[in-house]
Amino acid sequence: MDRIDFRSDTVSWPTPAMREAMANAHVGDDVYGEDPTVKKLEALAAEKVGKAAGLFVSSGTMGNLIAILAHTTRGDEAIMGHDAHTIRAEAGGMATLGSVVPKPLQTDQFGKMDLDELNTAVSPDNEHYPNTSLILVENSYGMKQGYPIEPDYYEDIREIANRHQLTVHMDGARLFNSAVAQNIPASEITQHVDTVTFCLSKGLSAPAGSVLCGDAAFIKKARRARKSLGGGMRQAGILAAAGVISLTEMIERLEDDHRRAKTLANQLANIPGIIVEPDTVKTNMVFFGLDETVKPTKEEIIKQLREEQNIWIGSTYGHRFRAVTHYWITDEDVSNLVESLTQIIGKQ
Ligand SMILES: *Cc1c(COP(=O)(O)O)cnc(C)c1O
Repeated sequence: MDRIDFRSDTVSWPTPAMREAMANAHVGDDVYGEDPTVKKLEALAAEKVGKAAGLFVSSGTMGNLIAILAHTTRGDEAIMGHDAHTIRAEAGGMATLGSVVPKPLQTDQFGKMDLDELNTAVSPDNEHYPNTSLILVENSYGMKQGYPIEPDYYEDIREIANRHQLTVHMDGARLFNSAVAQNIPASEITQHVDTVTFCLSKGLSAPAGSVLCGDAAFIKKARRARKSLGGGMRQAGILAAAGVISLTEMIERLEDDHRRAKTLANQLANIPGIIVEPDTVKTNMVFFGLDETVKPTKEEIIKQLREEQNIWIGSTYGHRFRAVTHYWITDEDVSNLVESLTQIIGKQ
């Protein structure tokens, strides 16, 4: 039996259409700028997010790091949410490789920073302080159940950035989940930021890769930064071919993932002992916990699901689980997870 894997959308395998496109991809040396499939992907990506140019990179982490390197100089300061992926889960790259000082600000239940706090967090022009030069935003917001933040918020951020002459980079790992959930084009969300990274390898199901987008001068700088990080890939069109499918065939169907996540949350809410807030589920992630009436521990439940049903779910901070829907999760998989959890928790 195939594994039913709710741990993340990163586990999604390439689709049959992707495997075919990969096998037949026209390729060239992309460091020479000669891979037609990479160029096609980059142009398509830039168009989707309303920017002039794109750069295919190996991962979201690399895209964000390259953006940080290209936007800052040694000793600069970057502001971001305290639980943003860029500070929490990218191995400290901005500090170790960019010599950038992170200044995290508390985020609210949706992953938004307080705008007054953001405005006053920008360091004054004074030799005591690092030079604040960058604001990092995230959408959808991973640590807030993938909340899809509205474009208005970024309009306000832009105003603050302009006031202080700062650059704004968006970690849009799940940008298209956010756009689909809000029923707006992705470019409406990204219009207020200078640059954006999004992942092809999550809900969009490609085997690997992200695209970093911005204006032409930025992308030129970013190409050099990518090379210095060892990210210049040669016949990368093999991978980009899957990314083209991601952008042409896999965006609208994210709605199905969101519907399944909502169904999962609603059904989990009916299991006594499970704590979940279905109202907060807006994209493809469901976080849930256990109340004190439940005897088996989180670890025991995860183990039992794996061993007895081959269902894999994620474990996150506190006593919570994370279940993420994606292309390979069906309605039946959702029912099976709910049924199995009901049994495991019910027969204590
Ligand atoms: C996954 C993710 C990234 C990084 O992507 P990788 O491709 O795993 O390096 C960045 N930001 C957020 C919010 C993510 O969820």
